[in-house]
Amino acid sequence: MRIGSIINGEEVKGENREVLTVLNPYNQEVVAEVVLAVVEDLDKAIEQSFEFFHQTMKKMPAYQRSDILRKTADLLAERKETFAEMVTKEAGKPLKYSRGEVERSIQVLRFASEHAKQISSEVIPMDAAIGGENRLGITKREPLGVVAAITPFNFPLNLSLHKIAPAIAAGNTIIFKPAEKTPVSAYMLTRLFHEAGLPPGALNLVMGRGEVVGDPLVEHDMVHKVTFTGSLPVGRRIRERAGFKKVTLELGSNSPNLLFDDIEVEHVVTDLVKGAFVFSGQVCISAQRVYVHKSLYDSFLEEYIKQTKALNIGDPMEEATDFGPMISEEEAERAKLWIDDAVDKGAKVEIGGEQKGTILTPTIITNVKNDMKIIAEEVFAPIVSVLPFETEEEVVRMANDSIYGLQAGVFTKDISRAFRVADQLEMGGVWINEISTYRQDNHPYGGVKQSGIGKEGVKYAVEDMTEMKFIGVNLKDRL
Ligand code: NAD
Repeated sequence: MRIGSIINGEEVKGENREVLTVLNPYNQEVVAEVVLAVVEDLDKAIEQSFEFFHQTMKKMPAYQRSDILRKTADLLAERKETFAEMVTKEAGKPLKYSRGEVERSIQVLRFASEHAKQISSEVIPMDAAIGGENRLGITKREPLGVVAAITPFNFPLNLSLHKIAPAIAAGNTIIFKPAEKTPVSAYMLTRLFHEAGLPPGALNLVMGRGEVVGDPLVEHDMVHKVTFTGSLPVGRRIRERAGFKKVTLELGSNSPNLLFDDIEVEHVVTDLVKGAFVFSGQVCISAQRVYVHKSLYDSFLEEYIKQTKALNIGDPMEEATDFGPMISEEEAERAKLWIDDAVDKGAKVEIGGEQKGTILTPTIITNVKNDMKIIAEEVFAPIVSVLPFETEEEVVRMANDSIYGLQAGVFTKDISRAFRVADQLEMGGVWINEISTYRQDNHPYGGVKQSGIGKEGVKYAVEDMTEMKFIGVNLKDRL
């Protein structure tokens, strides 16, 4: 399989372009070859997108945009298994989780289809101001133009759709720049939209290395908004280069989960095994830090180790596999070095910590100090630190002691304490009696501090992908 960028519906596979080989992270088999775009291809895609926005997309009625999104959802539902298998092949995600990702992607499309018809206006009470009598004021939400959607490898369908679907619902055109590791599902998704009736000019796919096409895409004058999901260093660079463009940044975190002394340990442990180890911890809201009240600490740890031991590690294409490879050997080696560094500083590996190729076994660490990378930075690997605490004040301070603030989980039966703690946590989102790793596609989602800027969740992304225009009328007969 050899694929390339798709510009105005045409696949670009010309000469003199770098060809990237996509490997299955589990067995290193070749999944596809991808012809990467050069900057001239990117410029052509942006110019075409800009033209198409003004000539067509801006004028497309809401019912039509809604219809296209619904048809894309229907097609994706029909081909659920093919898409899930491709995510497993190119990202190494266990098949059952890839299927879950496709299910969520269908929901994102359906939410966007519904919301396309709900983008509404406001009437401003102009007579609230002295002298404002006989005036009418209304707001309108207008599409922005060309939206650059830059996406990561870990949820190649769902996170791409959190940008593309709201952009279409709002009436924008899109330049879609997927991660180098997962270009095939991006290619299939782009073709799916076109098949569902989206005019090809509304969605251009540009395959390319971030360091080659990233800057020119972010800096281009004809791009009106950059929406990015990925790592902090790249997010920071985009912010610096985007100038006056609107920017949404969905970045990393080291999500905390707080377990107070009034909970039943067992079912929370089951959720936290999944929360820390689903897709080998390569999830932005993975449970990286688990704070457990001292009175529960020993029983929690014992049960956590026991349930982690029971995970089925192996080929992600197998139905029964719970836990597979990381995205690359370099990433697994990097994570292993972080474990070694923590152990050198006094941490204890309770289970896991063994690395071979792309597999790093599910790792639980204790005796962790704040200067260790495994807790201070985003670990983005199957490593979870378990720390004891005594008081509410202490655990809130520990949870907030981070440059990140994306999502947290708080477990307690005491409703007053739950809300008090939720109020004090410096996070974009707090779940009560649910793990930090849980996300639905219709709630506002996005971080504070260095976890990002702006919110996704279809309705909220649409808001960020439109501009509010005010139109006022003087109703006095003056002309
Ligand atoms: P990454 O930052 O390496 O790459 C993300 C995308 O940015 C890729 O498409 C890449 O090609 C592109 N890119 C690289 N350099 C660029 C540049 N100079 N300009 C523009 N684009 C450039 O991230 P990754 O390894 O694919 O994904 C993992 C990261 O994503 C983790 O940090 C994770 O926390 C984060 N993430 C965040 C969320 C969220 O919603 N907050 C969700 C998933 C993943």
